[in-house]
Amino acid sequence: MKHTELITMEAPELLSQPQERRKLQAAAKLLRDGGLVAIPTETVYGLAADAFNPAAVAEIFRAKGRPQDNPLIVHISSLAMLPKLIRGELPAGAAQLAQRYWPGPLTMIFPKSSLIPDVTSGGLDTVAVRFPSHPVAQELIRLAGVPLAAPSANLSGKPSPTTAAHCIQDLMGRVDAIVDGGPCGVGVESTVISFAEEVPLLLRPGAVTLEQLREVLPQVQVHDAVYHQLTGEEKAASPGMKYKHYAPAADLILVDAPRDAFVQYVNSHAAPGVYAMCFEEDIPCLRVPYLSYGPSGEPAVQAELLFEVLRQLDECGAVRVYAHCPSKDGVGLAVYNRIVRSAGYQIITLEAGKEY
Ligand code: AMP
Ligand code: MG
Repeated sequence: MKHTELITMEAPELLSQPQERRKLQAAAKLLRDGGLVAIPTETVYGLAADAFNPAAVAEIFRAKGRPQDNPLIVHISSLAMLPKLIRGELPAGAAQLAQRYWPGPLTMIFPKSSLIPDVTSGGLDTVAVRFPSHPVAQELIRLAGVPLAAPSANLSGKPSPTTAAHCIQDLMGRVDAIVDGGPCGVGVESTVISFAEEVPLLLRPGAVTLEQLREVLPQVQVHDAVYHQLTGEEKAASPGMKYKHYAPAADLILVDAPRDAFVQYVNSHAAPGVYAMCFEEDIPCLRVPYLSYGPSGEPAVQAELLFEVLRQLDECGAVRVYAHCPSKDGVGLAVYNRIVRSAGYQIITLEAGKEY
């Protein structure tokens, strides 16, 4: 067991105060010395280490129980840090996306430079890079003076952490420090787009939506794994796609249905341990225990609540969960992608006007 220091930050606007900066300087020193620090970002909490230090990065995999071939995202605090990380010129399309959406919840994949250790890139010849907008994350990278490799700060297979309490649940005694910067605003991991293919390819949907990417680059394609389970023969462009993820202990089933059909179906399947993971509007008609993940028309709220609700289902001891399927538009696609994976791709489709 390691000693895990808890570092609690006050409001981000106080970051300029000496007392707050001293706390972050202590965290930055741990990182420079090869330590592991869980940090807040605008998407989810990340478990950070010096991206150039292979021994430190190896510790991330150990602490999370993460498979070795699942690469990490490298976080920067200025565009000036980019040339050291990538091989060759920045593709013009990537420069346009960076201009529009960085700093922010967008990760871009490029051929990697020789400075990126194999352990950081999961043995791939490419590197994933993100410039986060969260003030604490930015300041920590700046103070550490090195790019930070950081996957989500959960135990492998569990929902990503969106509060410091989630990091404490999963990583207390396994890492050097946890920085509490309050709850994450976005709530789901970054959008991932690859520039290592012939056309820019969306590998993971996030808060920078497909529609927003295509406003800048109409040619963006979407990897099949965003919607469907990969078959054995299909190559996972992003190794993370092939692993079970975000899964609560309960058997989660996605129900793609209009409100009446959803409510009827769930009510007729009431049994001990059966829960609904529903929208606000479903609540008045439900006769089973439920947890709401927001209003049906507000995917950004659903994204913010999703992982907290998945963790709460575990705490309730839910055995079977029927989750009301979100819309796949805008940020909804990110929410859908996370839930369908939590459900192990089990989907029931119901029609309006039928009896269930
Ligand atoms: P996490 O930070 O835990 O959300 O995981 C990072 C995600 O980015 C995983 O799904 C990885 O598979 C993916 N990723 C990171 N680096 C690469 C890369 N070089 N090529 C493809 N996918 C990557
Ligand atoms: Mg993760």
